[in-house]
Amino acid sequence: MPENKNNKIIVRPPVVVVMGHIDHGKSTLLDYIRETTITENETGGITQGISAYEVMHRDENGQDKKITFIDTPGHEAFSKMRERGAEIADIAILVVSAEDGVKIQTIEAWKTIVESKIPCIVAINKIDKEDANIEKTKKELAENEIYLENYGGTIPFVEISAKVGTGVNDLLSLILILTEMENLTGDSDLPASGFVIEANLDSRRGIMATLLIKNGSIKKGMTVVAEDTICSTRLIENFLGKMIGEASFSSPIRVIGFDKMPRAGAQFKTFQKKGDAIKYIENWQEEKNVEKSKNTKGKNKETNKTIKKIIPIILKADVSGSIEAIEKEIDKIKNKITNEVNSENVEFKIVAKGVGPISESDIKGISSGADTLVIGFNVKIDKSALEVAEKRGINITFFEIIYKMTEWLEKQMEERRPKIETMETTGRAKIIRAFSRTKERQIVGGKVAEGQINLNSAVRIIRREFEIGRAKIVNLEKNKTKTSEVAEGAEFGMMVESKIEIVAGDIVESFAVTQK
Ligand code: GDP
Repeated sequence: MPENKNNKIIVRPPVVVVMGHIDHGKSTLLDYIRETTITENETGGITQGISAYEVMHRDENGQDKKITFIDTPGHEAFSKMRERGAEIADIAILVVSAEDGVKIQTIEAWKTIVESKIPCIVAINKIDKEDANIEKTKKELAENEIYLENYGGTIPFVEISAKVGTGVNDLLSLILILTEMENLTGDSDLPASGFVIEANLDSRRGIMATLLIKNGSIKKGMTVVAEDTICSTRLIENFLGKMIGEASFSSPIRVIGFDKMPRAGAQFKTFQKKGDAIKYIENWQEEKNVEKSKNTKGKNKETNKTIKKIIPIILKADVSGSIEAIEKEIDKIKNKITNEVNSENVEFKIVAKGVGPISESDIKGISSGADTLVIGFNVKIDKSALEVAEKRGINITFFEIIYKMTEWLEKQMEERRPKIETMETTGRAKIIRAFSRTKERQIVGGKVAEGQINLNSAVRIIRREFEIGRAKIVNLEKNKTKTSEVAEGAEFGMMVESKIEIVAGDIVESFAVTQK
C-alpha cells in the first residue's frame, strides 16, 4: 500500500454501496462480484451472511487493490445511507435497468447520494436483455437531472449485465479510478472506529455485529463500544467467517459477545482498556440525557433516565416480497411512533427472517419469558415448533393481512415501551418555623409561595437549592383548623413524616408524578 510522509497515514480502500430501484439488479451485481472474485474454498464461512465483503481488483498500473462492498442492497442499505450520509460509504453505485429506465427509487437513491456528497457511478444494467434500451435510459436519467459523462454532465457510467458479467470488470476499474481521485486515507495506528452495519442474535454464540472499520485498527482483546453497548473482542472474524487477530480500515469484521444489541448505523469506537470503554459509555449516556432534558418542555419538569427497549421480531413469510413489505411497514411504525412524544425509547428489531413455515430452529434460541415476537405471515407452524413454543410460553402470532399486523404491532409497541415518569411541581412553600421532632414525625409552619400544598401529598425538602430528602404531609392546618389544601399566599401548619429534620428556611415542594 502506498505510504506518504507521515508513515501512519496511508491510502485506504473504498467502501462502496449499491443503490437503485427494486429489481434493477443490485443483488445480482453484488452476487456476481462476490462469486467471481472470491474463490470457492474461501467462501466456506460466507454462508453465515456477513453483510459486507472485500474483493481484490487489478488497477490500471497492474497493482491489486482492495474494494469493500456493503452487501445489504435495497431498503436497508438505503436507510443506513440516509441516516449516516457519506460516513459509511465512500462511493455509491446507482444501478438502473436499461429495460425499465428511471423509476421512483432510482430518483430517491439519487437524492440520497447527492445529499451525502459522495461520488457516484451509474451502472446501466440488463444490457443483455432484448428490451434493453440504453439510449432511452440515458435520456430518462438526463430528464431527472442525472447528467452522465458525454451526456451533458460528469457522472461516470458503465453499461453492464450483472447476470452475464458484461462490463462488471470496467465497473470495478472505474471504482479504483474514482478512489484515486478521492484520495481516501486512514491512520492505522489509531484504535478502530466506524459503523455498525448489522447486528443479530445467534442462539449459540450470542449477540454479534458486523462492523465496518472506517479508520484505525482493531486487535483481539480490545473493547468495542457502540453507543451504550459493549463487547470485549475475544472473537474477531473477517467477512469470510475466518477467525483473525486484527483488522484495519475499510474491512468489514464480525465481533461476537456484545452485552446488548447494537443499533445498525450506530458509530463504534474501540479502546485498549475496558475502563476507558466504560467511561465512554457513561459520557455517551450523560450527553444523551442532556439532549433529552433539553427537549423536555416546562421548567419544573424532571424526566427520569430511561433505556431504549428493543423488541426483537422473528419473521417468517410465504414469499420474500411479503418480507420486504412487512419490513417497510415496521419502518413506518418506527417513524410514526418516533414523531410522537416519549416514544423514542422503543424500537422493533427484526433479528431473523425467512421464507417458509415457522420451524423449531427459528424459535429454539428464544428463552422462556423473552420479549421476542414471532410473526408468521401466510405461513403455518411445524408441529415440533409449536410444542417448543407452548412449553416456553413464546408469543407466536399469525397474520394474513398486512394492515392487521401493523395495527397489532403498534399496540405491542405501546404496551411494551418503557414509560417515562415526569415529575411536575404543584406547589412550593417556605418553612418559617420548625418544631421538635418525635421519631420520624415533625410539626412545621410555613407559607405557600406558589401553587398549593395538599394533605397526604409527597414533598421534596430543598435546602440551598438542593433536594435533601422527601417527606409526606400527614396533617395540614390553616388558622388552627384541619384542611385538605392550602393555597398560594396562605400560612399553614403541618405534620410531616420525614427521615430528615426540616429547619426554618427550607423549601418544601409538592409534586405529582405522571407516566407517559
Ligand atoms: P434488486 O432488487 O435490485 O436486488 O434486483 P435483483 O438483483 O434481485 O434482480 C431482479 C431480477 O432481475 C432477477 O430476476 C435477476 O436475475 C434479474 N437481473 C438482474 N440483473 C440482470 C441482468 O443484467 N440481465 C438479466 N437478463 N437479468 C438480470
